[in-house]
Amino acid sequence: MPDASHDHETLRPATLAVHGGRRPSAEDPDVAPPLRRTSTFLQHEGTHSSTDAGDWSSPLVYSRYKNPGVEDCEVRLARLEGAERAALFASGMAAIHAVVRAAIPGSGGRVAMARQIYGGSVALFEDVLAEQGIALDPFDVDCGDELAACLDRGATLVHVEGISNPVARVADLRRIARQAHAAGAALSVDSTFASPIVQRPLVGAPRGAAAPPPEERADYVVHSATKALGGHSDLTAGVVLGSADLMEPVLHRRKVAGAILDPAAAWLLTRSLATVDLRVRAQCRAAMGIAEALRGAPGVTHVHYPGLASDPSHARALELLEPGLFGSVLAFELEGGDAATRDLVGRLRLALDAPSLGGVETLVSIPAFMSHVAMSPEERRAAGVGPGCVRVAAGIEDPADLAADFLAALAASGAAAASG
Ligand code: PLP
Repeated sequence: MPDASHDHETLRPATLAVHGGRRPSAEDPDVAPPLRRTSTFLQHEGTHSSTDAGDWSSPLVYSRYKNPGVEDCEVRLARLEGAERAALFASGMAAIHAVVRAAIPGSGGRVAMARQIYGGSVALFEDVLAEQGIALDPFDVDCGDELAACLDRGATLVHVEGISNPVARVADLRRIARQAHAAGAALSVDSTFASPIVQRPLVGAPRGAAAPPPEERADYVVHSATKALGGHSDLTAGVVLGSADLMEPVLHRRKVAGAILDPAAAWLLTRSLATVDLRVRAQCRAAMGIAEALRGAPGVTHVHYPGLASDPSHARALELLEPGLFGSVLAFELEGGDAATRDLVGRLRLALDAPSLGGVETLVSIPAFMSHVAMSPEERRAAGVGPGCVRVAAGIEDPADLAADFLAALAASGAAAASG
């Protein structure tokens, strides 16, 4: 049966999401991808000839090394992201850890990391990588001078989020890549908030726009696949993507350290990927609907969403994100400050108070009590998180119902009462 995979550079994401991997055939006729849970594989003459010659990566030997279902999921993810290779891990944090260890082998080293970042990434550096002698050098994602100073101090890896957590600031990835590469450093982009449907940092430009030169593109992309890629809040996974050369050490270390995703979780992820384009577009529509409804609503002092023309990231979003898509996450600030947030969240009838994003259900979380709890109010402000901040991760519900849910909760809450 002809295989559409060679068209992956021209096929659009909705098509790739369905046809970007294994193709059923007469020998392998299941239309739905099979789940191959086995941990080990029968060795025979054919596999012996490979392993006797020292090739342990081509034959099926053992699922920590390679599993057909995991590999099929990786091929699909690589094609969606415009990458040569992908490696699935047990979580997003395991994926970020793998990038840092592959990019900075040995002991010691320095990573420049944007201050506007998921709190768990900071904890990874402070609690684990610091013990291995890897220093964390923070910079403001919008400040080229701060990044230049980190690079002058010897950072060899720059790590940023393309759309940042929680206030959805869009990073100037081309400028950051240029700066990193001019200093001989690599750029790793956590693209969890964007998903490959909204942005592809390895390609560097939206579909249809001229691709920038390689020095303006990322070297590694990581995702918490727990979010939009999995999409149903029912699996935990992470993925690293990049060129075949850069992925070689990532894959080798994953095999030796044993951090590969379980075949059952990979199967669930493959099933979810088929609908990722539909889901992410619906989430972006819902996020825009909520952002527009909240702008100017009583008790709301600020709405952060790159889709709003008034947002500081809007122009950059138009340049770097796929046309008409601005991501699934927004944040807003309440006049009543942090004290008003729990009351408001408790009055929502649809959106759920839970710390994740990218699922079919809309979730809210309060950064001051959750992702950014370890920071002081001043540090939160430096990361763009003002008092009374609520993050909204839009699901796929009807945007009008979601907007009504937020407006009703505001009307009933102390936040609205505080504003009179
Ligand atoms: N990166 C970002 C931007 C995240 O929001 C998260 C989790 O919330 C992670 C990485 C970590 O992913 P995981 O929970 O799958 O380890």
